[in-house]
Formats: sequence, C-alpha cells, structure tokens
Amino acid sequence: MNRKQRRAKDRKIKKSKAKTTEMEQKLGLFDLMPNECMVCHAAFDKTNKEMVQTWNVVVREQEKSVKVYCPRCWGEAIKILKEVGAIHDEGQTK
Ligand SMILES: [Zn+2]
Repeated sequence: MNRKQRRAKDRKIKKSKAKTTEMEQKLGLFDLMPNECMVCHAAFDKTNKEMVQTWNVVVREQEKSVKVYCPRCWGEAIKILKEVGAIHDEGQTK
C-alpha cells in the first residue's frame, strides 16, 4: 500500500466514524421513544412504519424527551386546543 492509498483509507475511516456518531444520536432519541400513547397508554410499536407515520411524535431534543400520541388522542388534544382558542381552526395544525 502506498502513502496515497493509506491516506484515502484513513479518510474513509474518519468519515464513517462521523456517520456513526450521528446515527447514535438519532438512535438515542429513538430509544427514548415511549412504547405507548402518553394519554390512553395504547401500545405503540416504534418499529411499525405505519404506526410511526400515523402517530404523533413530539421530540424535545433539549429536554431529551420524546412523547407519542395515538391519532385518536392527538385529535382530541387538537379539538380541546381549538376550543380554548390556543390554536386557530384554519388547518394550521401541522
Ligand atoms: Zn391515545
């Protein structure tokens, strides 16, 4: 192996290491994800793609907290928020 090849190899290792750290950070949050709805405690399967897409996941990175709400409870919460005027009924819930 000549010097140039070795350097290229070093660079590759550094790059993959950076990627791992990023992944680990995301996995950390993934681990924090509860496996039930915060409100009704319905089972939440975070490995289920469909569930992940339909349930509402609220991530607060600073607090390192992740909360999940099933679609039904989320709908209820939105309804209540609208009733108290916390959000306006203009389809800006997302
Ligand atoms: Zn629920």
